[in-house]
Amino acid sequence: MEGDNKGLNRREFLKKSLGAAGLLAILGTPAVPLLSQRKASASAPHSASGNKKAHAWCMVIDMKKCDGCTGLGVPPQCTQACIMGHYAPEGMKWIEVYEQKLPGGGRFFQPTPCYQCENAPCVNVCPVAATYHNEDGIVLIDHHRCIGCRFCMAACPYQRRFFNWGTPKLPPEAALAEYSPLYPVPAIKGTVIKCMFCAHFLRDGKLPYCVAACPRKVLYMGDFNEDLASNGAEVVKLSKFLDENNAYRYKEALGTQPRVWYLPGHGQEFGREAEDPRELKPTVWPWADGSYERRRGVWPWKESDIWTWEARPK
Ligand code: SF4
Ligand code: SF4
Ligand code: SF4
Repeated sequence: MEGDNKGLNRREFLKKSLGAAGLLAILGTPAVPLLSQRKASASAPHSASGNKKAHAWCMVIDMKKCDGCTGLGVPPQCTQACIMGHYAPEGMKWIEVYEQKLPGGGRFFQPTPCYQCENAPCVNVCPVAATYHNEDGIVLIDHHRCIGCRFCMAACPYQRRFFNWGTPKLPPEAALAEYSPLYPVPAIKGTVIKCMFCAHFLRDGKLPYCVAACPRKVLYMGDFNEDLASNGAEVVKLSKFLDENNAYRYKEALGTQPRVWYLPGHGQEFGREAEDPRELKPTVWPWADGSYERRRGVWPWKESDIWTWEARPK
């Protein structure tokens, strides 16, 4: 599946995908439907005006490889890394791994981030335009505009939004983070929050926490404008990857046009049987139970090992 890109390493992918400098700054072109981008992207990476087009980020989730991290006996590392990286308030799983039943018996695991819908019901209903698409098509929330009405939560057919009912209990360094809609830390009481595809990392040429932390390399970040995707270990031609692996989108019939594609399977690429009885391990919010100080420094992964391109094994 990666045949067309054999000679392309991750750094080249980034160079190609992210272009010169200041990716997100380049833009200003209106979003066009992603499916048409998918067909046109390889031949038309630039707008008619000659300006470089916005990126068209998407995620591909290869469930043939996902075992819910049960084989390793650890909580889903995608969820855990997202929690740790964003100091997510207790109980919030911006990417949640659900166990799903197969029609003929057996089960599989389905990681579910925000789908960054192109036709996003959450964006359509917000009365104060606090939630919006950025120039790359990512659905962001400006927490200083959010009035906490929660219309967006009711509108999301995937239940991918969360409400900060109170001031979340977080470790002290969360308060030092520089808030932006790209990196909504610390969480603000009375506002809605969710996955934002780690837009701050994409801007800086890094993979999202969840993508980089997945031990099975299940999650791919893709850019339709460049027709490439990477899980940090390989780079694939996005359109071919989707076409050859029966890609589908969750509840596509709703017309939401999610930017997340699934490749069906049940972890079989790593020897998992569909009937495998191993259970998902619960994720943890170490700041909520007071164990953060104790765990800090001995957490199973270090950010420097996981989420920078430079730190990935070559
Ligand atoms: S996507 Fe990766 S990290 Fe997440 S549950 Fe599946 S194997 Fe584990
Ligand atoms: S998954 Fe829900 S929250 Fe995310 S863009 Fe779609 S409707 Fe909005
Ligand atoms: S893309 Fe970032 S915010 Fe979204 S689930 Fe992954 S780690 Fe969390």
